[in-house]
Amino acid sequence: SKDKGKDGFSFYEPHMKEKSVRIMQLELELRKAIDNNEFILYYQPKIDLKTNEISGCEALIRWNHPTMGMVSPAEFIPLAEETGLISQIGEWVLREACLQNRKWHEAGYNNFIMAVNMSAHQFKQPTMIGMIERILHETNHEAKHLEIEVTESVSMLSEEVIMSQLYALKRLGVSIAIDDFGTGYSSLKYLDMLPADVLKIDKSFIDEIGRMNHLSSSLMTNAIISLAKSLKMKVVAEGIENIDQIHYLKLHNCEYGQGYLISKPLPACELEMKFMRSNEK
Ligand code: C2E
Ligand code: CA
Ligand code: CA
Ligand code: CA
Repeated sequence: SKDKGKDGFSFYEPHMKEKSVRIMQLELELRKAIDNNEFILYYQPKIDLKTNEISGCEALIRWNHPTMGMVSPAEFIPLAEETGLISQIGEWVLREACLQNRKWHEAGYNNFIMAVNMSAHQFKQPTMIGMIERILHETNHEAKHLEIEVTESVSMLSEEVIMSQLYALKRLGVSIAIDDFGTGYSSLKYLDMLPADVLKIDKSFIDEIGRMNHLSSSLMTNAIISLAKSLKMKVVAEGIENIDQIHYLKLHNCEYGQGYLISKPLPACELEMKFMRSNEK
């Protein structure tokens, strides 16, 4: 069209009008953030609800921008996906998480499992498996101590690409966790076909436990726990915030737990102080 300049760029593209100034600013800044070392990983512990021992953690990215301050991943991950920057960011996250876990393994925590989130966009990249293999090799990190968290909505896309990526991950020896489980609409038949090792019960179900009308949600929680067991999968409850919830989950034999009651996501050194040094006998 004649509105477009030489490079095809137009200020009158409909999507441009909708983009707020903030989003455009974020996008520019996001491109510089990796080079400027503005990202940092926080780690949220997962505990074995039987022993109360830490079994591993989930790596969660934080963006500490020099003037905007902390930007939430809920805000910039979708933008990173839209712009394709997620590939670079995702690679940085994986390398950083594996390097950190190597250090913890060398310090004696040699069963510690590191979980890393991966979004739909990353799963659609044909280079994803090669990238993971390379990072595991570079960081000398064992595949079996890495877990990839993928939301139920992603695993649900029964697109062949995603399915074959999940199987390739499995062959590498990496574990697969289905995040936010219970919020999508997976059929049991489909779930049984997925090469997944872990179900993470979505926080929305945990939130209802202990509340007045919690019957249906606790039924869902119970159903997911027994579903996981019958499929020989591990089960993790996320977003545990109070004692009632943790009691309930222990009583119903949920294996692992994660949430603010146990710990908020922490920088590596704080997680060490809180969960590791004190454990050293
Ligand atoms: P998620 O994977 O479902 O992660 C759980 C979110 O809940 C995290 O928010 C965590 O800090 C928060 N959370 C944990 N326990 C509690 C609790 O007891 N109460 C409450 N209210 N919240 C709790 P966060 O760190 O802001 O991350 C938001 C989302 O951003 C994540 O949701 C994930 O989808 C995405 N994300 C974070 N890091 C990465 C990453 O490195 N790569 C990708 N692709 N996505 C990421
Ligand atoms: Ca997650
Ligand atoms: Ca989740
Ligand atoms: Ca989520």
